[in-house]
Amino acid sequence: MVKFFKSFLDFIYPPLCPLCGERVERHGNLCATCWAKFNWITNPKCFKCGYPFPANLDLGAKPMCPHCAAGECDLDFIRSACVYDDVSKNVMLPFKHASQLKYKTLMSRAMINCLHDIDFDVDVVMPVPLAWRRLFKRGYNQATLLARPIAEHYNAILDTDSVSRKYKPDMGHKTAKQRQENVRGVFNVVNKDKIRGKKILLVDDVMTSGATFYELNRVLRKAGASAVYGVSFCRVVHAI
Ligand SMILES: [Zn+2]
Ligand SMILES: [Zn+2]
Repeated sequence: MVKFFKSFLDFIYPPLCPLCGERVERHGNLCATCWAKFNWITNPKCFKCGYPFPANLDLGAKPMCPHCAAGECDLDFIRSACVYDDVSKNVMLPFKHASQLKYKTLMSRAMINCLHDIDFDVDVVMPVPLAWRRLFKRGYNQATLLARPIAEHYNAILDTDSVSRKYKPDMGHKTAKQRQENVRGVFNVVNKDKIRGKKILLVDDVMTSGATFYELNRVLRKAGASAVYGVSFCRVVHAI
C-alpha cells in the first residue's frame, strides 16, 4: 500500500534532478551527470580541517595541512562536502541569496555524507548565526535550513538562539587576516546553560578562510563547550 502510494506520488510529483530536471530515484538527489560535475572532497585530506590534498599524495593515516600543523585550527575537526568552484557556486549563491530552496536537500545530504567516516558524538547542531538585520532582509538563515536535517540525522538538538551575532558590513573579497579581524567579537553566547559541557557541530553553507568557525569555536569553548566541530557545503581552497 505504502509502495503504491509512493509510486502514485512519484507519478504526479516525480523526483527530478534540481539542477537539470532529469528524472532521479529520490527527491533531492542529483542525477549522475550533475553529480559528476562537482569537485567532491575525498581522501587524502587534512584529518583536522578537511583541506583536500592532491590525489597522488600519500601522507599516512592522519595527514595534516601546514595550518593545522601550526596549531591554527582549534576545532576538533572541520569537513566540507565540495570545493567552492563554478559548479558549487551556482548552487550555493542562489540558495543563499535568491531563495532557491530546492537545493537544500542535495546540500544537506552531501554534508551528512562527508561526515560519515568520522566517529564523533554530537549533542547540539548549530547553524552559524546571522545578524538580525540580515535575517530580517533575507527572511531566512540559509545555514539553519541546512542544519535542521543534519540535526535530525544525528538525533541532536538544533540550537538557533544560544549565540547572537552583531551586524558588520560584508566581508567579501578580504584577506584571511582581515576576515579574522572583521569577525572578532561579533558572536555573543546568550545562553551559557545550553552550551556548557556540550559537543557542538557548527553548520555553514561555505567556508572561506575559516575565520567564522574559529571565532565561534573561541566563544563556545569560553562558554564551556566540550567539543566543537564544523561542517560546510563547500569551501574555498587556496594553494598552501
Ligand atoms: Zn542533473
Ligand atoms: Zn588542516
